[in-house]
Amino acid sequence: MADDLPQVDTKEFLRPILFGLAEEELDDLARAAVVRSFSPGAAICREGEPAGAFFVVVSGRVAILKQLDDQTERLLHHAGPGEFFGEMAIVQESGRTATVRAVEPTLVLEIGREEFLSVLGRSPSLAVRILVHLTDRLRSADQQAIVELRQANEELRRAFARLERLDRTKSDFIQVSAHELRTPVAALKGYAQMMKDHPVVKKDPSLSALVEGVITSTDRLHRIFDNILDLSRVVAGGLEIHRSPVSLAIIFQGIRLEFSEALERRNLTLELVGLSGLPFCPADPDLIYKAFRHLVNNALKYTPDGGRITVTGQQVSLPDLGDCVEVVVADTGIGIAPEDLDLIFEKFYRTGEVALHSSGTVNFKGGGPGLGLAIAQGAVLAHGGRIWAESPGYDEQTCPGSRFIVQLPLGGTG
Ligand code: ADP
Repeated sequence: MADDLPQVDTKEFLRPILFGLAEEELDDLARAAVVRSFSPGAAICREGEPAGAFFVVVSGRVAILKQLDDQTERLLHHAGPGEFFGEMAIVQESGRTATVRAVEPTLVLEIGREEFLSVLGRSPSLAVRILVHLTDRLRSADQQAIVELRQANEELRRAFARLERLDRTKSDFIQVSAHELRTPVAALKGYAQMMKDHPVVKKDPSLSALVEGVITSTDRLHRIFDNILDLSRVVAGGLEIHRSPVSLAIIFQGIRLEFSEALERRNLTLELVGLSGLPFCPADPDLIYKAFRHLVNNALKYTPDGGRITVTGQQVSLPDLGDCVEVVVADTGIGIAPEDLDLIFEKFYRTGEVALHSSGTVNFKGGGPGLGLAIAQGAVLAHGGRIWAESPGYDEQTCPGSRFIVQLPLGGTG
């Protein structure tokens, strides 16, 4: 087969490529060189293989490729006549770091590893050539990496902008729907209330029970739409704050009253500690009520019957927020897995385990649309405060409990 190959004057071919080599060294390399021919697509050497030779392209073109995890190949660069490859793995005494394939009919000179190393050992000139070649390659790889990184960044930025646009469209749709649906639900609630007070219904206990059911359900629907609207405002950054001096003791008394029936039915204790000693907080009473109501509601939902919810208030002075009130809502519930501690504040996020559980907003593991914490966070942030969750972990058997900490600045900025 070698007879079919075109004759190559190896020494004269190598001379300008490895310029500066002594005649004797050139002779040695030329003697060791074998001309090899490759058809398009054929591999000249493969990534991972031991490095047995050094190659110089005589004619044609090769592609230097990197194997990716998904078994595809990524093009690093091309090499043509007079360019060499394969020296890196020999110098490093490692396996091939890339696969090289012919992209068109290609002739290469193959010089065995031992002969190459022997000349390299004797010739500072060849060492310098190799070094220059390696540095050039590193520099162009660097350049290529920067260009690709820039492109990837740009693609990511565009994808992000697109997602943001889609998210806004979705939020707008949800907001409009919630708004449209809330109106007939409010009317339904009014009619049901009128039915409840109607003499015929009042006289018939079974009818009364039915109407009571309609009222409870419409109440719940109404609250869901309210939450969705609150959330839409949080997402759009349109939470309007109307500050006035707020007593957190009064806020939590109101919340306790609202949940009193559920607390009693489920034998849960809600203890309020240190709230009455707190200064008034310059806050929006409505929003703050909603935020803490969601926290207490969650504590109820994720604590088994007979458990304890403790709300503790204290005044703290923080380096960044200054004087603050700090409220901790702690429960003896199922707890939260460490990987969920941040995610639960995302809108519509619910931990996998509870998603399938019972309905009812105050029952143990009662379902919810995953809005409460996103609203609470939005409200706290709008006040210039912060909120986070702590828990030793999620375990329904041992119930390690969760703590939600809210810090609200007393300065009234934000
Ligand atoms: P949801 O409507 O599902 O209650 P939230 O935004 O209020 O939505 O809460 C998000 C998720 O955070 C809940 O589905 C639950 O998994 C978890 N979570 C919130 N509060 C608690 C808590 N006190 N104990 C355990 N898990 C909680």
